[in-house]
Amino acid sequence: MTSFKDFAEVCKRVESISGSLEMTSIVAEFFRKVDDDELGMATHFIMGRIFPIWSEEESGIGQSLLYSAISKISSLPVKRIEELVRDTGDPGHAAEKAIASRKTHMTFFSESELTISEVYSRLQTIARLSGKGSQTAKIKNLQYLFSSAIPIEIVYIARLAIEEMRIGVGEGIVRNAIAEAFNVPADLIERGILLTNDFGLVAYTAKKEGVQGLEKLGVILGRPIKVMLAQVASSIQEAIGEMKNVAVEWKFDGARVQIHKRGNHITIYSRKLENVTSSLPDIVRSIRLNILTENVILDGEVVALGNDDRPMAFQELLKRFRRKYEISSTAARIPLILDLFDIMFLNGENLLDKPLTVRRKKLEEICDKNILAKQTITDDPGVIEKAYNDALAAGHEGVMLKNPDSLYSPGKRGKNWLKLKPIMETLDLVVTGGEWGEGRRANLIGSYLLACRDIEMDRFLSIGRVATGITDAQLEELTDIFKDLVISENGIHVDFEPKIVFEVAFEEIQKSQNYDSGYALRFPRLVNVRSDKSVEDADSIERVEQVYIGQRGR
Ligand code: AMP
Repeated sequence: MTSFKDFAEVCKRVESISGSLEMTSIVAEFFRKVDDDELGMATHFIMGRIFPIWSEEESGIGQSLLYSAISKISSLPVKRIEELVRDTGDPGHAAEKAIASRKTHMTFFSESELTISEVYSRLQTIARLSGKGSQTAKIKNLQYLFSSAIPIEIVYIARLAIEEMRIGVGEGIVRNAIAEAFNVPADLIERGILLTNDFGLVAYTAKKEGVQGLEKLGVILGRPIKVMLAQVASSIQEAIGEMKNVAVEWKFDGARVQIHKRGNHITIYSRKLENVTSSLPDIVRSIRLNILTENVILDGEVVALGNDDRPMAFQELLKRFRRKYEISSTAARIPLILDLFDIMFLNGENLLDKPLTVRRKKLEEICDKNILAKQTITDDPGVIEKAYNDALAAGHEGVMLKNPDSLYSPGKRGKNWLKLKPIMETLDLVVTGGEWGEGRRANLIGSYLLACRDIEMDRFLSIGRVATGITDAQLEELTDIFKDLVISENGIHVDFEPKIVFEVAFEEIQKSQNYDSGYALRFPRLVNVRSDKSVEDADSIERVEQVYIGQRGR
């Protein structure tokens, strides 16, 4: 067993440096040392996750529950804990200060006895508590963990409990660290993760079976695959020029879902690969009725259809996702339909390396027409144009133009899937800061600082602020969400943890010295809060440059 203290010390070392190569080496060294059984837990813990992203289990510990536990064990009032968080800017250090001061009066372990698996199993117990009395029981369990911990462990238990590690280790560093630790190529690790999204399994396989084992890793029913993504099509002509024949489908105005069916057991993952099965009972039912095979992985879009048979606003659709209460009444108010467009696995056979035409044939064989997205293969621009106009007339976004010969490339935004939409492209940007409003809006965060991603350097580059397109009601909702993400405040300026993605429309992108990216948005307007997207899905500086160059050519 590996002691939790070793883990906490690694976190502390990583936190003190900024170079990603050095961070990777420290994490790699740790992965080499960790006990086999705890390697999976360690890969998740270091990213601030208790469970894998696709797991139905959730920590169930929010800030207020954490503060209550710290308050109970330190005998300090919750208000004082909140002050400490504000002063230190970090729940971890606040917990350490509060509890360590108290512990001098108690008998406590000078040497920790906690192991990684003990922390995991206690957090798992907490996650599984529900119903009456569960809050008290959760607090008791957290108290127990804190009381068994030495100060350095307290910092990271507190952060892990709310799944905010704040040490700058994301999927990229973990991927490279697994490669370095077990001396295997990073692209094999990436392949394993794209296919299984199971960092623990990939790390364990790398350690135990090396290259050969990793090469054998394939699609696993019940482990979501990273979804294939689309690029913007410049024109119909260009798509035909590149692909010759084009597989045309409507680009539905909905949300992506990946469906895993094993016999009667159905699991649905969102675009972020979170398990959303329990909030979509109507889709589960539809799969049972309309899929005529045992074991399968499917890709598609769910659309919320209004009374007029047109897609409802995206915000309405999102109300159906990750819902815990009022599931059936919300489902009645916001009914969903399913449009399937791909299949990745069928009864033991991995279909990722089969051309789209072959996959489509299999999909048609096993799926009732009413949940299948229509597809036409053509080289006639008139046919594509008609599909495009029909899609828009029906209230959808445009069309997808797919290469019929293309394989399914998990996690890739390539030229084999092109999207054709009428309006100027929007950008998906990460919110990294904000400003408190004035006058009537003094209690609300009235403007938001936006950033694109610099993937190579693993950082965010600011590109502008958005304050338009947000209703008062939405401002209140957003303020509530962002209050929990505050890292620091200075006057009216607030820094947020980069967690939320805004889809932003604008008139034009301009060159600008005012923002780190070297670009600014002219007349930015919030289109949607993309809670279906994670920060890794936000647009990169390369895409900003692309849009900038594209608009010059208009
Ligand atoms: P975007 O989010 O703008 O990059 O567009 C890609 C998204 O369009 C996918 O992630 C799907 O959620 C959605 N979509 C709608 N219809 C289709 C389709 N027929 N094929 C693939 N993706 C589609």
